[in-house]
Amino acid sequence: MNKYKSFLLGKSAQDRNIEGFEFGTSGRSLHIYGGIHGDEPESVDVLLRFIEVLKEEGSVYDGKHVYIIPNLNPDGWFLKTRVNANKVDLNRNFPSSNWSPQFELLKNNPGKKPLSEPEIKLLVQFVEKHPPQVVLSVHSWLPQVNYDGPALSIARTLAKATGYKVTDHIGYATPGSLGAWLGDDQKIPVVTLEVPEKTNFDRVWMENKKALLTFIKKA
Ligand SMILES: [Zn+2]
Repeated sequence: MNKYKSFLLGKSAQDRNIEGFEFGTSGRSLHIYGGIHGDEPESVDVLLRFIEVLKEEGSVYDGKHVYIIPNLNPDGWFLKTRVNANKVDLNRNFPSSNWSPQFELLKNNPGKKPLSEPEIKLLVQFVEKHPPQVVLSVHSWLPQVNYDGPALSIARTLAKATGYKVTDHIGYATPGSLGAWLGDDQKIPVVTLEVPEKTNFDRVWMENKKALLTFIKKA
């Protein structure tokens, strides 16, 4: 059965809508997020295309309850900046036990305190209300499948579907990240799919459509 609806998660710092999509009504709870970094539009595009597939083919999410938030940082997306409109790196603003006010590069500004940013406050409230069993977070950079918490097996499955490698460490510390908060602290499997950056969106979609479908089926 084809059952979906869209909803408004809330408003960004500059009052832009943050939209969400819900597919199915019960079953294993899967969350997919994109656009946490505004200068990674590939992650938004690939999820918008995936949402269109799910709208057409209800059988894809049979037995699953899927929430997709394709563009968590619409201000950064509009301004073409990694950070949000308050110049905070949203993936350093989660209330994880390793959150730190220190940062070296401006692009990693974690904010004055955890949850200082409206976008992260909204997402954290949403996660607390609709606890996920597995989370997929889509970014763009060097293609790879990274994971936090007990997510190695699903990371391997997605790596197989994309041809990208699995990495358990991104190469630098990420205090206050989604993976630190949900994966390390709460032991909820978090997979970070890094799709290719600065390439055409069609290629990104071709390379990752199967992985996204596999995530819904196997996660
Ligand atoms: Zn990113």
